Amino acid sequence: MWAVVKANAYGHGLVRAARALSAADGFAVLDMEDAVRLRAAHPHHGVLLLEGIFQAEEAVLLAEHRITAVVHEPGQIAILRAAVASPGSIAVCLKLNTGMNRLGFPADQARAVYQALRELPQVGEIGLMTHFADADGEGIAGQFQRYEDSVRGLAGPRSVANSATLLRFPEARGDWVRPGIMLYGGSPFSGQSAESLGLRPAMHLTSSLIAVQSLAAGDRVGYGHTFQAPRSMRIGIVACGYADGYPRHAPNGTPVLVGGRRTGTVGRVSMDMMGVDLSLIPDAEIGTPVTLWGAGLPADEVASAAGTVSYELFCALAPRVPVSETAQFHTGDGQI
Ligand SMILES: *Cc1c(COP(=O)(O)O)cnc(C)c1O
Repeated sequence: MWAVVKANAYGHGLVRAARALSAADGFAVLDMEDAVRLRAAHPHHGVLLLEGIFQAEEAVLLAEHRITAVVHEPGQIAILRAAVASPGSIAVCLKLNTGMNRLGFPADQARAVYQALRELPQVGEIGLMTHFADADGEGIAGQFQRYEDSVRGLAGPRSVANSATLLRFPEARGDWVRPGIMLYGGSPFSGQSAESLGLRPAMHLTSSLIAVQSLAAGDRVGYGHTFQAPRSMRIGIVACGYADGYPRHAPNGTPVLVGGRRTGTVGRVSMDMMGVDLSLIPDAEIGTPVTLWGAGLPADEVASAAGTVSYELFCALAPRVPVSETAQFHTGDGQI
């Protein structure tokens, strides 16, 4: 399994997450710098560069640090051809475009490109990968068939499955699965909770109340006055805002836990603060703990209220948010 730890491990911290996910066989990242860091910290793991290399100097690093590079366009083959590296020292993963139309050689070129790579003395193992566009929706049938047809008879490990594929299509696991979001406890499916999939959140974004306001009916809250009190009510002000990575476009009523009880946001999220409804939480006061997402409040729910996905919430977590490592990552029972 390649544990996908791109984008700073989906906001969880590259080094920290990789350590917690060391039961994986390897790590998949985007930046060469991250790949080299992982190699140094994890000498026995695979390291995969998901977009491959862009410059000639990087080819040497692949061999030196035993990093596997995705090869998705002809320029990357040209770079490899010119690289001064010992025979068989560079492992690659040939990426085929089977319908996502983002990265990859057209599937019907698989054989020719494979052959071109095979003829490069620098190249060792050649993996065969593709990426599905809608494993969480319509499914993978068309793309998977195209992939299977294009790689038939070619030697090398297969890698096709992101989290949604891994959970929904066991027949399409291949040799190396590539889960990301599920490792962090997020659901890849909009209609299915992480909990129902047996996933537990790794990230708990918490804060506390730093002020309480008593509103009269008709009083309004925050920038733009987007919330108006329908009756007299109490609201709390939470020390968390969009500068922490909380989505600014979260509407009134986005779920939040105050003192462990569920309520909703009121008013527009500002840079460092946001309002929450305390109508049904009379004992809430300054200092009462608040969970923006995590245990008891799945990030997927918050994301859905804000019109996004947990991936985006996690990745947006701002560097200024202090991180304490209390919970352990749950690496499962080793079946994948
Ligand atoms: C991000 C990514 C993954 C992981 O996707 P999840 O939906 O987070 O599981 C797998 N493969 C590739 C090529 C990716 O870019």
